[in-house]
Amino acid sequence: MVELTILGTGAWIADAKKKRFGPSVLLKNEGKNILIDAPGGINYQLAHAGLVANDIDYIFLTHHHPDHTSGLIQLIGEMYITRRSAKSQLTIVSPEPQKLVRRILKPYKSTFDSIEKLSQFKINFKKIKNGAQITGIGLKETGITPCKLNHSKTNEDYGYRFECEGKKIAITGDTAYCEELVTLLSGTDVAICECSHVQKLPGHLTAYEAKTMSLFTKKLIPYHIYPGWDVKKEFKGFGNIHVAKDLERIKF
Ligand SMILES: [Zn+2]
Ligand SMILES: [Zn+2]
Repeated sequence: MVELTILGTGAWIADAKKKRFGPSVLLKNEGKNILIDAPGGINYQLAHAGLVANDIDYIFLTHHHPDHTSGLIQLIGEMYITRRSAKSQLTIVSPEPQKLVRRILKPYKSTFDSIEKLSQFKINFKKIKNGAQITGIGLKETGITPCKLNHSKTNEDYGYRFECEGKKIAITGDTAYCEELVTLLSGTDVAICECSHVQKLPGHLTAYEAKTMSLFTKKLIPYHIYPGWDVKKEFKGFGNIHVAKDLERIKF
């Protein structure tokens, strides 16, 4: 069984009205928990979904902006404090995962000393290459392909396409419209697609562009939503766009 949990549909700026959590998705397949992006406080949001940090087997990061990665230190810290078992490996997948983890642990050196010492468990790092299927991380029945998108000149950004049990799922990172996004979404059963605002924000999709992208997938779920616009009203009448609530689950 494949299960998706939309952990958070929000973006960098907190939404006092809608109370959206930061952008993050959990994919369950092959009995593994695969977390896509780790915004600040992610371990608390996982608890709302009935999970703790040690339940996570894989962390895929779309890019290294803080609204997608600032929860990593909390997750790794929780794994350390709760003495994650040496048998239970964690794999972090991103454009430069090892560099990122070393950098974020540095200010906490006196607390954690070093990543090797702090953990009884091992962290595997997998650096991604655009368009190259991700292999060698212990997922035998899940096809995963990263797709480089168009978000920031200083921060490489990817979407991931997962193929599990005959279902095709796309999860975008942050991105402006680009042809690669069309490729990523084409023929998918579900696309969890960034949609920041109705107005243009550099490096992001507008609601108008998300509507266009919904032509390429069976079901589009907007996320990475900034406050200040009526998402439901904007997508009313678009049958294959589903405005999900945080913590909503989709089973295949
Ligand atoms: Zn970003
Ligand atoms: Zn973002």
